[in-house]
Amino acid sequence: TVNLKGDAQNIVNSKLPDISGFENIHVHDFIWEKVGRWSNHTALVCLNTGRSYTYGQLRKTCGKLATSLRKSKLLPGDTIAIILPNIPEFVIIALAANEAGLRTTLINPIFTTYEIKRQIENADTRAIFTIPTKYIDIKASIEKNSKIKLPIIIVNDGTNASSISGTIQLDDLMRDDIEDFSISQKIGISCKDTVFLPYSSGTVGLPKGVESSHRNIVANLLQGMDPTFFPGIEASEHHQEIVPLILPIYHYYGLIIVLYSYLRIGAKLVCLPQFSAEAFIKLLENHRCTVLHIVPPIIQMMINNERITPRHIESVRLTLTGAAPLGEKLIANFRSRFTTGMNFIQGYGATELSPLATITHPNMSTASCGYLVPNTQMRIVSTQDDTLGRNLGPHEIGEIYIRGPQVMKGYYKNPKATADTMDGDWYKTGDLGHYTEDGILYIQGRSKELIKVKGHQVAPTELEEVIRHYDNIKDIAVIGVAHEDYGEIPKAFVVLKSGVKINENELKEFVAKRVAKYKQLGYVQVIESIPKSASGKILRRELENL
Ligand code: ATP
Ligand code: MG
Repeated sequence: TVNLKGDAQNIVNSKLPDISGFENIHVHDFIWEKVGRWSNHTALVCLNTGRSYTYGQLRKTCGKLATSLRKSKLLPGDTIAIILPNIPEFVIIALAANEAGLRTTLINPIFTTYEIKRQIENADTRAIFTIPTKYIDIKASIEKNSKIKLPIIIVNDGTNASSISGTIQLDDLMRDDIEDFSISQKIGISCKDTVFLPYSSGTVGLPKGVESSHRNIVANLLQGMDPTFFPGIEASEHHQEIVPLILPIYHYYGLIIVLYSYLRIGAKLVCLPQFSAEAFIKLLENHRCTVLHIVPPIIQMMINNERITPRHIESVRLTLTGAAPLGEKLIANFRSRFTTGMNFIQGYGATELSPLATITHPNMSTASCGYLVPNTQMRIVSTQDDTLGRNLGPHEIGEIYIRGPQVMKGYYKNPKATADTMDGDWYKTGDLGHYTEDGILYIQGRSKELIKVKGHQVAPTELEEVIRHYDNIKDIAVIGVAHEDYGEIPKAFVVLKSGVKINENELKEFVAKRVAKYKQLGYVQVIESIPKSASGKILRRELENL
């Protein structure tokens, strides 16, 4: 057999000029490069308590905490864990840890004791940062782990200042009398060293620790900030972008695309510790946001919630969605409900890609995921038996492979998973898609979620898109369930608009009229809500148990 792996044929290159300058700069130095220009501007404000930091204060506080971390028992390359909601101190800890040469793992604060324990152990955590209300849980998750005594540093989030015995107070590590200096040069951390160790969402299998270097992150910050994508988004001494921090910052979309990108340009970030429609409305009423970074379920919520009016987002010039598939119907509804002059764009990526790979240009349809960001290449690799492993051409569907400076170093302590996921320096995304002659990428869903009906492949997202056009349906998810004769058959879970009923057979017929015979629905089940992750992904494994 001919080995076509990595052949030069059908490799799609980014159309944008290469960027440079990401090889030899640390993340924190990149973030702070221009901070002196807007020292007096507000950098972070907490929506719940109103506590805030100017850029000058933020820079100084991070420097002090970095000094304390360096003077502690933690050594460069040790892992710290942040288990916090979106609060200003999360940002201080992350940036100080970057500067002190530590590796930071990010843990979803609503994780169970079991999940926290698993990640703390897997990441070889040496210290934990959290808030008083999470302390008991976290103590319980590490108690059974007798081998190491983990220091827990308590963050005063303004709601409960009482000190807990046996813990360290974050405030004590960033006191006024502590020296503030830039130390990255002195400890000689390499730009190839791991700076963040987030865990993938675990949508398909168990979450895996993703090792990103300083270079990975800085490259992706530069790739994503290309002015082609975000026209007119900038900050200066005279103008400040106002950006809500509503997506969780333990996930890269929130941390890199929103938080770090906008800190670099001096924006004001409004932290929302806990997302709810109420809190989001309050945020929009109190801050005239200029940019919105959201995920499909938030778009859905904005459409459905009558209390959110076009006036709430009249100051928004750019909205970006990503992290989960976006239905065309959804975007049409959003546009008709909020007719504003804003640009609407979609990005595609993964934690392993630090996280961005492609993005639409403004004024382009968001049915696609757009163009490759600079310095990035893509190929679509056949998953069919007869052409397996071959690079496909335009309009042919296969697995998306990505190569570029943003591709992770590998999975932490997991050479097997790394080997399975990498083909040389190409990252195999596990997503299916195709591209046009112009290099525009369309996503078809995940290869592992494909439903196999009598040997035919059915993409759940395709059926979901069809069903979205049926009346009275509020939300939808399709999975494959076992079938004696067909192997698998599609099953639809639907959430209805309040006070309505549907005829399940009519829905099946509606779908049957619009798709090939083998794609027809076998079953329909009405449920209260579709289980989703914080980044908006359908948790299909949970549906299997319903
Ligand atoms: P795990 O790898 O542990 O199963 P995960 O892949 O869900 O978890 P993330 O890294 O958060 O974890 O998500 C990346 C995935 O999100 C992509 O591989 C893709 O399936 C999906 N995704 C991201 N952006 C988009 C988008 N714009 N449209 C459709 N899907 C997207
Ligand atoms: Mg993944």
